[in-house]
Amino acid sequence: MAQRYVRVKTEKGQTYYGLLQLSRGVQVLDAPPWLQGQPTDLSLEPDTYQLLAPCAPSKVVAVGKNYANHAAEMGTPVPTEPLLFLKPPTAVIGTNTPILYPPQSQRVDYEGELALVIGQRCVDCTPKDAQGKIWGYTIANDVTARDLQKLDSQWARAKGFDTFCPLGPWIVRELSAAARLQTFLNDAAEPVQSASIDQMVFSPEFLVSYISQVMTLLPGDVILTGTPEGVGPMQVGTRVRVAIEGIGQLENTVTQRKSAN
Ligand code: MG
Repeated sequence: MAQRYVRVKTEKGQTYYGLLQLSRGVQVLDAPPWLQGQPTDLSLEPDTYQLLAPCAPSKVVAVGKNYANHAAEMGTPVPTEPLLFLKPPTAVIGTNTPILYPPQSQRVDYEGELALVIGQRCVDCTPKDAQGKIWGYTIANDVTARDLQKLDSQWARAKGFDTFCPLGPWIVRELSAAARLQTFLNDAAEPVQSASIDQMVFSPEFLVSYISQVMTLLPGDVILTGTPEGVGPMQVGTRVRVAIEGIGQLENTVTQRKSAN
C-alpha cells in the first residue's frame, strides 16, 4: 500500500502532519512532509484524532471544463486554454466533515476531482519541470452552487462558500496515469461520475506550468484538475463519496447552513 500522508487534530486540539499506519495509528512528523518533515517519537493511537484536510493551502486554484464530456454536458465548448478560478482556503474541509448547504442557493452540486498538492515554490516552470513540483495527489469535491454560478459572471460566490472544498482523506505520492475517478451518492452501488483521469484535456503538468506563469505556487497549495461528466445536485442529508483508485475515498454529508438572521 502506498504511504498515506495525513494531517490530524488530536483530542487536545493539537494539529500535526503524519504518516497513517496500517493499524490506523499516526506517526507524527515535525513539519509538513513537502517541507522535509521528519518522523518524531510521537505517535497517535487510532480513534484519538480527527482527519483534517491533508494540507492547509495558501490558495486552491481550480480548473473548469477540463474533461470534454463535462464541457458537453454543460452545453459549452472545451476551452482552448485552461479556465482558472480560485476557491478560498476557508472553503477547505476534511473527510467526514459536513458540507453546509447555504440558504442563498436552491441547487448545490458535487464535482468529484483529482487534486494536486504542490511541494515546491513554482514560478514560470515548464511542463517538464512541473512534474517535480507536484508533491502528491489527493481527492477533492469542487462543491458548486450551480444556480448562483449561472447568475454570476464570476464564480467566487458559487464556488467559495465555507465547506465547499472537501479535500482528502490523505495524500499519496504516486498515482497511475489511468486511475479511475468515481462519485457515489448515499448507498447507491452505481456511480454518478466515472472516468479515467487520463481523459483530462490539459494534463497535471501542463496545468501546473500554465498556472505558474500567472501566480506563484507555494508548497501546500492545491490545484483542482476539473470534473468529468455526471455532475448533479445534492440535498440536505445527501452523503457524497468521491473515490480515486490508488488514493482512497473522500466522504461528506450535506447539512443545512443556518442563515445569519
Ligand atoms: Mg470543478
